[in-house]
Amino acid sequence: MTTRQEILAWCDATLQTAAYKDYAPNGLQVEGKENVAKIATSVTASKAAVDFAAAEQADLLLVHHGMFWKSEPLTITGWKKARIEALLRHQINMAGYHLPLDGHAELGNNAQLAMRLGWITEARFGEQNLLNIGRPEKVQTLAQFADGIEAALARKPVVVGDLSKEIKKVAWCTGGAQGFFQEAIDAGADVYVTGEISEAQYHLANETGVAFVSAGHHATERYGVRALGDALAQHFGVAVCHFDENNPA
Ligand SMILES: [Zn+2]
Repeated sequence: MTTRQEILAWCDATLQTAAYKDYAPNGLQVEGKENVAKIATSVTASKAAVDFAAAEQADLLLVHHGMFWKSEPLTITGWKKARIEALLRHQINMAGYHLPLDGHAELGNNAQLAMRLGWITEARFGEQNLLNIGRPEKVQTLAQFADGIEAALARKPVVVGDLSKEIKKVAWCTGGAQGFFQEAIDAGADVYVTGEISEAQYHLANETGVAFVSAGHHATERYGVRALGDALAQHFGVAVCHFDENNPA
């Protein structure tokens, strides 16, 4: 039997959760049963993910985006009540790992994305070392580079830049990290890849010549929590199942 506490302790130690300043609690967010035989993973602790975990008879729902963000109301009403009610009814533990799961050098979203796209990480930099810089396996044009992302993530990215430009240096940060574009420009990247784009990045890309690729918040963060779930399954011998939603954002 594996206890919830053993799993949470392993996650904390592996992901070095104490080393991050975050705007959501990392670790257990909703307490369920004490022993864990099956884990369900999901990018977000959505109602659909909770329902999946219940249908799979999972004892732990492991996510990247939990439920208690700093800027949210503190009350448990509406959609939040429905999620929590379903978790409690089925005694499913829900644990979230946010920035620690972006940053981990092997299991993290940034590392897992790079692995799928064949990017070689050379350095981590910027806010809490969440930005990565490196090189693609072979030099490509921006058009080829974007096609590779589309094929790997099964989602058409938003691309701003000269499509014939050669890409030798890639900077990236998964999720909603468009605000770090300037750091990527300063670091000498030919392109910056993240999950979302805001209005300002279009102009910055045009005016600096550094290309910007918005490849999807969900699509770029699909792989970290899966890798963590698989690592737990391997380490503790528990069962694992993965939930994915067709989230276009
Ligand atoms: Zn995210």
